[in-house]
Amino acid sequence: MVTQGTEKINTYLIAQQRIKHAVEQLGLSLDVYERLKTPHRFLETAIPVEMDNGTIKIFLGYRSQHNPVLGPYKGGIRFHPDVDANEVKALSIWMTFKCAVAHVPFGGAKGAVQCNPREMSTRELERLSRQYIREMAPILGPTKDIPAPDVNTNAQVMAWMADEYCNIQQYNDFGVITGKPLEVGGCVGRETATGRGLMYAVREAAYVKGLTLKNASVALQGFGNVGSNAARFLAQQGCKIVGVTDIMGGVYNPEGINVELLIKYCRESGSVKDFPGCSPLSNKELFALECDIIMPTAVENQITAEVARTIRAKIIGEGANGPTTPAADEILKEKDIFVVPDILANCGGVIVSYFEWVQNNYCYYWSKEEIEARLEQKMVEAFHQIYDYQCLQCNSKTTMREAAFMYALKRLYDSMRVRGWL
Ligand code: NAD
Repeated sequence: MVTQGTEKINTYLIAQQRIKHAVEQLGLSLDVYERLKTPHRFLETAIPVEMDNGTIKIFLGYRSQHNPVLGPYKGGIRFHPDVDANEVKALSIWMTFKCAVAHVPFGGAKGAVQCNPREMSTRELERLSRQYIREMAPILGPTKDIPAPDVNTNAQVMAWMADEYCNIQQYNDFGVITGKPLEVGGCVGRETATGRGLMYAVREAAYVKGLTLKNASVALQGFGNVGSNAARFLAQQGCKIVGVTDIMGGVYNPEGINVELLIKYCRESGSVKDFPGCSPLSNKELFALECDIIMPTAVENQITAEVARTIRAKIIGEGANGPTTPAADEILKEKDIFVVPDILANCGGVIVSYFEWVQNNYCYYWSKEEIEARLEQKMVEAFHQIYDYQCLQCNSKTTMREAAFMYALKRLYDSMRVRGWL
């Protein structure tokens, strides 16, 4: 449980509440909720790692496997000092629903290690990544559970992890992990897929709301993989990126920030803070900016009720997982702000991970153009299937988030029922 402003927030409880709400809205039996409220399997392990100074340090590692009814478990691995069991369980629930919304044949999972990668050397990170896989290997595999990158993990970490898994198996089995570098069975466009997919989702949202992206003003919280790529692709659509914040600080320029230069600056300095030609901007100020589109692309629970009251944008595109609290949702609903929910908005990552897994299994690789065209098609289909569901099958007060959860739940329920799980 964390306190954000005046709200007490338990991410796991929030994820469970969202399932329960969807069960009630669909008029299903509470047995369905009981089946889905707890991850099917949760592994917590103490990971010993030899540090560069010769000492052994123990890190807590987690893997939560939520529900496999639609296929093998799938979900990223996060390295973060504050991550805990409840957060990982919540994120695994969201993955199950996201895969159902995206129509990729996977169940939901999530992994994490409680560590601060900023304070670790490359060698220490490699030893930690390899040891995590040694601990988790019995429950992983291309037909069992397929990890991917998440906050503070990247293609290099995935390469170490995939290599370790292949060492254990004694043969190359690259389909065990996605988000790998191209040299070891990675997929072109995977690194930018979540940001690109987010752009497509926001583009479709703008279209249905009658807003044109040309000159639309956008503010983003978080400028890592998802945020920087979403900013780049939105800028290519003609959007004006007016505000960006990250963990260290933020920048504002109402005339528009040059995204390519900001990415270069951030790569060199480690933050967007003090980017030349801009004024400083706090997270609080970012959410209250006079702009068309707000993109939370950092971590969970950033849009609380207090923050929601200050938001003036017309559209929110949730790149991060779980960035909005239920209390904030109520306020955004009253204010008629169109929210493209996380399980829809950021599903581009898992869609291209699916493409990577398919290619690994077939040992046949597609071109960048094919990947981008297939991603666009799947994102557009996913957006409109939820939008149509909201417009045609729900009442006028149902939000896009509620519609997405109901749509996904219906798919999960139908599959569990025919498999005899209920
Ligand atoms: P990342 O580590 O590359 O970047 C995270 C960014 O958020 C950084 O700029 C960091 O400084 C910023 N940040 C962290 N805490 C913050 C705070 N309290 N206030 C302001 N800024 C903060 O991570 P990422 O891969 O871009 O993931 C971002 C979000 O998107 C996460 O919620 C993740 O679960 C979600 N997501 C990622 C992917 C993916 O493919 N990487 C896919 C789907 C969803």
